[in-house]
Amino acid sequence: MTDPATAKHDHRQPRPAPIARIPFIRITSFVLLSNCTRTWNVRVSPLAAVLVAFLTLLAPGCTGRGSLQRHEFTRLCMGVQARIVLFAENSQTASSAAALTFHRLAELDGCMSDYRPASELMQLCRNAGQPPTPVSQDLFDILSEAFQISRATGGAFDPTIGPCVALWRAARRSGQPPTPEELQIAHSLVDWRLLELDANACTARLAKPGMKLDLGGIAKGFAADRGVRFLRTQGIDRCLVALAGDIAVGDPPPDKKGWSIEVPGLPVPLILRNCAVSTSGDAEQSFDSQGRHVSHIIDPRTGVGAPYRRQATTVAPRGEWADALSTAAYLLGPNETPSLEQAFPGTHFTIIDH
Ligand code: ADP
Ligand code: MG
Repeated sequence: MTDPATAKHDHRQPRPAPIARIPFIRITSFVLLSNCTRTWNVRVSPLAAVLVAFLTLLAPGCTGRGSLQRHEFTRLCMGVQARIVLFAENSQTASSAAALTFHRLAELDGCMSDYRPASELMQLCRNAGQPPTPVSQDLFDILSEAFQISRATGGAFDPTIGPCVALWRAARRSGQPPTPEELQIAHSLVDWRLLELDANACTARLAKPGMKLDLGGIAKGFAADRGVRFLRTQGIDRCLVALAGDIAVGDPPPDKKGWSIEVPGLPVPLILRNCAVSTSGDAEQSFDSQGRHVSHIIDPRTGVGAPYRRQATTVAPRGEWADALSTAAYLLGPNETPSLEQAFPGTHFTIIDH
């Protein structure tokens, strides 16, 4: 997400010599322009500035920066609490933008869920080992992000981890660890390189029968990111979309440098704008199996839930990066985060080992 406030302008164009020096004036909340909340530095004559100020005061429903109100909405989505916080001029604008965004999130869930048998993702899994399946642009986009992140993390993040996740979820419910044979079969089906994507045809294919995709480590961040993008198309730039701990933010609240986000374990809140933050760790979904600490994040090298007592928080320019890279950073640990920061420009990792 590009921050319009920091976007660079091209100054190489030759400019005509100024007729007279015109003072630099900062215009905030310019009512005649569509986006009332931005600040522009422009050269205008003092007379024009007075005229603008006058028109601004006269304009019906004059809506300066001060008149933007904070609105918050929550709903269950993707199996977690989804939260939208946005600044809008009135509650009607806010509610309809939020309702449309929740609808967009539900649409993404219908495409990427591994819980809904009818989802596009599950249809693709049922076709494993068969010819390529045409997929929607949304599903193609998240699969292609997942594939690239798998490659860049040396397979620590692996969206084909599904068979092992299913095994360890069952073990957690029953209290019985999988047998070595069950583990061996499930593990033999995990390999992100066997996810075949064709951007021209917009198709995907899992090369081996029995393979199963699990986007649980990337889908919420992707959806939060797309939620913010969607709100922008509705003219709402100052917004936050959170799916549990996967959070994407747009422009900051009026008169603030950023959104204040509290991350458990961090001493001070993060102040963020136009980026995303996610946290992964063993704190909430781990269990003990035969005296071994097993987290819900599976080490793709072994097919077993990783034993680390650790939290990885990632700030990234894109929601899917923040989400998937936190999962990878939990597995890779603090020694690997400098190379992740290099491979994914604009990312920042904080690892806490307990
Ligand atoms: P959470 O979604 O619980 O906040 P994560 O973003 O770290 O935490 O995602 C964990 C989920 O990702 C697991 O529940 C599982 O569905 C999936 N997963 C587990 N191990 C991996 C892995 N190595 N690579 C990709 N996804 C994984
Ligand atoms: Mg994650």
